[in-house]
Amino acid sequence: MLLFCSSWGFYAHYRINRLAVYLLPKAMAGFYKSNISFITEHAVSADRRRYVDSAEIPRHYFDADHYGKDPFHTVPQKWNDAAKKYSTDTLLKYGTLPWTIQQNYYRLVKAFKNHDTSAILNTSAYLAHYVADACVPLHLTQNHDGQLSGQAGVHALWESRLPEQFSQQYSCYAGKARYIENPLWQAFILCRASFKGADSVLRTERQLNKTFPANKKYTVVTRGKRKLKDYSPAYCKTYHRALQGMVQRRMRIAILNTASFWYSAWVDAGQPDLDKLIEKPLSTSQRQQLMKEEAVFKSGKMPFFPDFGLVNQ
Ligand SMILES: [Zn+2]
Repeated sequence: MLLFCSSWGFYAHYRINRLAVYLLPKAMAGFYKSNISFITEHAVSADRRRYVDSAEIPRHYFDADHYGKDPFHTVPQKWNDAAKKYSTDTLLKYGTLPWTIQQNYYRLVKAFKNHDTSAILNTSAYLAHYVADACVPLHLTQNHDGQLSGQAGVHALWESRLPEQFSQQYSCYAGKARYIENPLWQAFILCRASFKGADSVLRTERQLNKTFPANKKYTVVTRGKRKLKDYSPAYCKTYHRALQGMVQRRMRIAILNTASFWYSAWVDAGQPDLDKLIEKPLSTSQRQQLMKEEAVFKSGKMPFFPDFGLVNQ
């Protein structure tokens, strides 16, 4: 049995949330850095919630291709208009990702306005998760795991195996957080760009599958006590090369947008003083550790994180 994860494997989600903190302006950075463990650990809380709350499931995807050949011109961006055109049930069935981003954005604005530390942290972590999901091409198609084209497993291959094996070589720094004028519009921009990439994610794997020796495609890996059939390192390497930097680019966009959504929500809330909300300042050694991480990240490399990664898979 193949091991399937949904939405950027845990490994990438942790990194996206954590690295986004380093793109924030000074007035936000102190608060987010002093809570960086929470922001990191809760990067995958939204995925975990799907197991206990079925209402959570459609928040992680938007099957744009259900709506025809040109979905981003066909589907109205405003929820009420889209629901009027297609029915609420249809929107829920084919995923609500862009609207979920919008909803969590305004939730974050409210949390900032209320100086509600726990709501700021929880909503920041959830919003980051959804923004990151919107950067994954296979979250935008009904063929989300290649199950309709005989490629079952491609989802976890693209968003889990590849980042796990290669993200240590990625350069994901794209400058400071930027103000987003229209959060819903931006959510749709992210979704549209990912949707455009879905075809090449699938096509590239299909072509590779035709030429790669079948007996070398899979290997057996041990995860905890389980033995699982998974893509071989050689297959992952060839696929990764054929994608020509796509995973790195999508991860970089996810980090930049995560920080930009947080930053914009804070601006829209009137730039409250977050330093006053710091309950436990970082120790000197923690601060030094983060400074080191930040410097590595900003020099165009991926910091090494010994304390998290595959532990929760
Ligand atoms: Zn997700």
